[in-house]
Amino acid sequence: MSDSLILRNPATEEVIHEMPHATVDDVDAVVAKAKAASPAWRALTPIDRTRLIRRFADTVAAHVDELAELETRNMGMPIGNSRWCANAVADTLHYFAGAVEKHTGSSIPVAGGIDVTFHEPLGVVGMITPWNFPMLMASWKVGPALAAGNTAVLKPAEITPLTSMRLAELALEAGIPEGVFNVVVGPGSTAGWRLVEHPDVRKVAFTGSTEVGKRLMVGCAEQVKRLTLELGGKSANIVFADADLEKAAAAAPGAVFDNSGQDCCARSRVLVQRSVFDEFLALFIEAAKQWKVGDPMSPDTAMGPLVTAGHLAAVRRYSDGLDTVFTGDVPSGPGYWHPVMIATPAYDAAVCHEEIFGPVVVVIPFDDEADAIRICNDSIYGLSGSVWTRDGAKAIRVVRAMEAGTLSVNSNSSVRYSTPFGGFKQSGLGREHSMHVLDHYSELKNVFISTD
Ligand code: NDP
Repeated sequence: MSDSLILRNPATEEVIHEMPHATVDDVDAVVAKAKAASPAWRALTPIDRTRLIRRFADTVAAHVDELAELETRNMGMPIGNSRWCANAVADTLHYFAGAVEKHTGSSIPVAGGIDVTFHEPLGVVGMITPWNFPMLMASWKVGPALAAGNTAVLKPAEITPLTSMRLAELALEAGIPEGVFNVVVGPGSTAGWRLVEHPDVRKVAFTGSTEVGKRLMVGCAEQVKRLTLELGGKSANIVFADADLEKAAAAAPGAVFDNSGQDCCARSRVLVQRSVFDEFLALFIEAAKQWKVGDPMSPDTAMGPLVTAGHLAAVRRYSDGLDTVFTGDVPSGPGYWHPVMIATPAYDAAVCHEEIFGPVVVVIPFDDEADAIRICNDSIYGLSGSVWTRDGAKAIRVVRAMEAGTLSVNSNSSVRYSTPFGGFKQSGLGREHSMHVLDHYSELKNVFISTD
């Protein structure tokens, strides 16, 4: 490809980096490197693999400020959030460093001998990550892949590759051998797709849009290639009349406006019991007024710009002309700014059902427990969600009935590296995080040994 990739700071529109696009040949060369590195990496003793991944985690921890600044300049997320992400990358790597020796097989009682299982590495794993949490998404895939004995080829979203590229350098500095963790920066439709088609890539781990996820499923079918998908969402934040309304309202802006709403777990539908609808809405608007939008480099900024002019235009297709009950302020001048918006549209409006991936939230009334569950599940998605109530039994009944994979009660915090994360329905396939994810980065081998 002759033209080069130009990256802009979304808060200032200044060019921050220019580089060539990787071609399909570049991807092939990187996959060959990862394949060549695979036998030695899988043959390492588990404790040596643990030591190296832990050194990688420590090296990341020593570069938190640098990584955070890079992420904010490239992607626009507030510096406080970027710092949190950089620390979370280190923590994720520490978790998976510790997981290497704990991903044990089993022995199964059988007649005439013993039966044992082994977790075998897959080989080369291809990773395709999005632009909304670039380095965090990279670590969620690289951590378990390396821990399970695979080598990795990561293709980050082209518009936000800088922290992923830096992570690969830090891995080398930490002593992870050449070829074990590779980054290749090219367009999804060519460089990303090559990972789907390449016969030496044994699995694709993807985070991104449901539309592209579906295409990857079709592509992977050709080779029965392993595939995990973390896709879109339209998650429900359900507030019952008996909840601590002030607490629920104070937490609601963060649950949907964090990262400018560019979050697959964004609670972008707030369902409120009709008897407290007006009271909650007033509290929610008050809380949203405190949500500080501005320079992402400033430590007290809660929300920065959207990632690109193109994405701003995509969000505006939903928000232009939307009748809101609250619209926040944005800085004037350059940058891809979109205000926070709260709306109470008719239920059949597209904004109530489609993923917007911007700081726009709808508030929808419901009558009772059954109605809340019905509305919550009336979605092609099922990633995340929250329930706010003081009635513990009701909370359990409702979360069990919600068709979603990653939930929280009296909190909007449901994602941790030590607990399973993933979606029901068209929000995904497979799980990330926790010990469960290691099964998605290995094959289960069964061996019978005769004692006759
Ligand atoms: P995409 O799904 O297009 O991009 C995600 C990743 O997939 C990027 O690395 C992209 O590469 C790559 N990709 C795109 N097409 C292909 C392909 N044919 N084969 C292989 N890889 C491919 O998301 P967008 O950036 O276009 O965002 C669109 C919408 O998707 C958002 O508005 C949001 O609704 C949703 N989304 C959801 C995310 C989530 O966390 N679940 C994350 C990001 C977006 P490249 O961009 O370099 O071309």
